[in-house]
Amino acid sequence: MKTLKLVRMYSIPVSDPRVSELITWYLGTLQRAIDIIWENVEWRHRFPRIKRKKQVLIVPSKFKAPELPKSKSFKKKLRNDLLLDCPYAKHWVDAVIRTAYSIMKSWRKRYLKGRARKVKPRVGKRFARCKITLMRVDYREKRIKITLKPGEYIEISWSGRWFTRRVEGWRVGEVVLKDDRVLIPFKSTRIIEVRNVVAWDSNELSLDGFSPRTGFIMVDLKPLQSMKITYERKKRIAQSKGLKSIYEKYVTRERNRERDFINKLASGLTRLLPNTTHVFEDLEKEDLVCRKKTSRNRRKRNARTPWKLIQKKLSEKAITVKVSPKNTSRTCPRCGCVLKTRVGRLFKCPRCGFELDRQKLASINIYLKHSKMRGFPHSDEPEKTMMEELWVGVTPSGRSPMIWIPMKRGPESDEAKGRELGIKQYQAL
Ligand SMILES: [Zn+2]
Repeated sequence: MKTLKLVRMYSIPVSDPRVSELITWYLGTLQRAIDIIWENVEWRHRFPRIKRKKQVLIVPSKFKAPELPKSKSFKKKLRNDLLLDCPYAKHWVDAVIRTAYSIMKSWRKRYLKGRARKVKPRVGKRFARCKITLMRVDYREKRIKITLKPGEYIEISWSGRWFTRRVEGWRVGEVVLKDDRVLIPFKSTRIIEVRNVVAWDSNELSLDGFSPRTGFIMVDLKPLQSMKITYERKKRIAQSKGLKSIYEKYVTRERNRERDFINKLASGLTRLLPNTTHVFEDLEKEDLVCRKKTSRNRRKRNARTPWKLIQKKLSEKAITVKVSPKNTSRTCPRCGCVLKTRVGRLFKCPRCGFELDRQKLASINIYLKHSKMRGFPHSDEPEKTMMEELWVGVTPSGRSPMIWIPMKRGPESDEAKGRELGIKQYQAL
């Protein structure tokens, strides 16, 4: 049994000049808070610890890491300073401080990874993130009352909206105010009884899965790729002719079609593989583990295939787990031998003679990593199911992509399920 947290964001239009005024104050104060935190960042030398077998190496380095001020006295002073210019309820200052810290924390994280420069973050987009203490939610009337000042409120109702029935019984989270609309996150939880595990290897043209229950699963991503290539060409032409608005139109269209594809893919997979934990490689860790030449191609193709988006979408609809990507494409799943090189389409273990198509190897290793982590027995599972295959594809048929199976030999998902999805079945050639 696992709990899946569900969040759905809906927006409701508002037209109230007080909202824009609040946002203007919010952003000014937010930037001030960031300025003050920035001035109080301490730059400390770091001595990274590297564990090598049983030894711990402490590496001296000239690199200085930023530490955000955390003391109670600092936070109290910051709050008092910001309160001097606050015509709104005091909780709004707390909302600002929290947002300022979250912006600074994410800057720090990116800086430590080498993805951000040593430059103070600037607030760009116009928004104001509310705090739960500033909100009163009436679930019966479907109404949110947001405090501006003591005794002054903004009221927003989601009664009669198109999504009202979809969020029946859900809780309201912290809303975000925009100049012309309010974004409301609705939260809920679902208990899922996990009966199946599928490990996914992310490749440019396919998502290659392995599960001891289903066997190999191949999700075809070629339609997504060809769509992206088409738009890349269109964008290039628009750019070379200096047609900025047309270029931007293509950017938006490409993004919408990509999102649409990924949404359909994620819901298709959750319907095709119900009660399933999906295991992925941790792409954040990938950058840390292999920064050498061998991974350059991999990183390049990851840039085109929106892996993180696919993982994120799936994690909103199903239970997902991430494992380290280390050595997944060169470890023998039978004896654990790690090969030095990666050549050819076929993986051949020099120690035990195990052979497998390299494309399928990583998914088995990802599966094994997960089951070791969970302490499941896995002795001969992969070998038993290696002969079974399930192929899944998302094809854009007109405007709505659908899932199809060109070939199926899996024991699990039966035809009934396939029909429900609008799955076309093909006989293997
Ligand atoms: Zn082996």
